[in-house]
Amino acid sequence: MTDPRVAQERQSLLLGALACPVCGGPLTLAAAARHQGLVVDADLSCPLHGAVGVVESYAVSFRPPDVERARAHRVPAGRVRVPVGIDDDGLELVGRWESGWEGLRTGPGGSHRAVLPFRGVGISITFFAHSWSGRAELWVDDELVQEVDLFRVETEFVVVDLVGFPNGGHRLEVVPTGERHPAAGGDQIVLNRFDVLRRPVDAPLPQVDPVNRGNGFPPRFEELVDLLPEGGIAVDLGGGDRRFGDPRVFNLEYMRFELPDLFADGLRLPFRSGSLDLVLSQAVLEHVPDPQQAVDEMRRVLKPGGVLYCEVAFMQPLHAVPSHYFNVTIFGLEYLLRDWDLRESGTFTGLHDTFEWMGRCVSAEEKIGRERLQLALEVLAEIDEKTPSEELRPIAGSVYAEASAPVSSMPDPPAAPAPGVSGIRAVTGRIRRILGRIRHRTQSLLGR
Ligand SMILES: [Zn+2]
Repeated sequence: MTDPRVAQERQSLLLGALACPVCGGPLTLAAAARHQGLVVDADLSCPLHGAVGVVESYAVSFRPPDVERARAHRVPAGRVRVPVGIDDDGLELVGRWESGWEGLRTGPGGSHRAVLPFRGVGISITFFAHSWSGRAELWVDDELVQEVDLFRVETEFVVVDLVGFPNGGHRLEVVPTGERHPAAGGDQIVLNRFDVLRRPVDAPLPQVDPVNRGNGFPPRFEELVDLLPEGGIAVDLGGGDRRFGDPRVFNLEYMRFELPDLFADGLRLPFRSGSLDLVLSQAVLEHVPDPQQAVDEMRRVLKPGGVLYCEVAFMQPLHAVPSHYFNVTIFGLEYLLRDWDLRESGTFTGLHDTFEWMGRCVSAEEKIGRERLQLALEVLAEIDEKTPSEELRPIAGSVYAEASAPVSSMPDPPAAPAPGVSGIRAVTGRIRRILGRIRHRTQSLLGR
């Protein structure tokens, strides 16, 4: 259990560093609900750009879809959403369900059902709705509560809140009826996620303990966290589904993973200029279409003298397609950081790791057999062992750098985006990046 004072101090630290992601100006917070001194739900508004962010069930988001959804679909007063993934053990699936990036979808044939026992005062179901979606019945404790038609001409996440149940244990049943809107191309139902609605007193406070479902943290980052000054704050930019486990470290993601503390675009960071002490950017810059802009944004939000620890792909195969834009050499990374005070740079991993990954890309094992591949990799590992790290530099898998933001020359916040076609392209690009990141994470979970 989280100590409420720790959770409260942690939230104040984060809220105190936030700024408008469009203009970098100050935000006002209008809290709709508080619990134990923490903000549960709120709007974050810029005097120039309006409601740009939200706090929703303690999590901060500046993603436009989250902001729109939260504002159109407020969590019922005095309630907290506790997320339940579609991979939750408690979810029982009857009939044919297939998993895809958008969630669990019904397969061909009839009599599908999804059953989820839950404990709380309500449940919120998020469907992915499209032009092939059909109708579903929503039952709670064997009573039909609502019927939904999920047919949408344009794809959309549809959130249905079922509320007003006595606090306690209940049972939700989602039953696709096989019926459809006359214009619908099919009767498919896609479950994206569930959120149990609880009274704040029954919901967990934001957690602090370490959890990691992605890449391991660089050991040097752990040292740098230990060196944080009094009242210091660190951000893991694009950390994926992980929590470092120190109240001063926050994970910012664009993807809706479960563990990040805030959601925003890495090219428009929602922080005041000069507000952070430490930034980690691990295996992220190769996936950013404009790495220089990303690095400049990191410099803007760091305090003068604040530290960036950065790892980027060098001799790594194509991954997270199509969102893999630029591998960099050590000189390329130093060039991106030319306006910084570079403290250290270098490379890591050698022939073995690089070729193992490459071999997997071309299914080498299937072609030459496990034993011969193993032998080849052993030979490469032996070469790595006999080679000083300086000599491995030309073939290393990754490059890294540690740099501090210079005391002079503070870059300006990013200019507001031009509306119109470029905005649409940016959105399309982002969706492609998200799809790529999902694949990337899956690869890294499989031990890429
Ligand atoms: Zn603004």
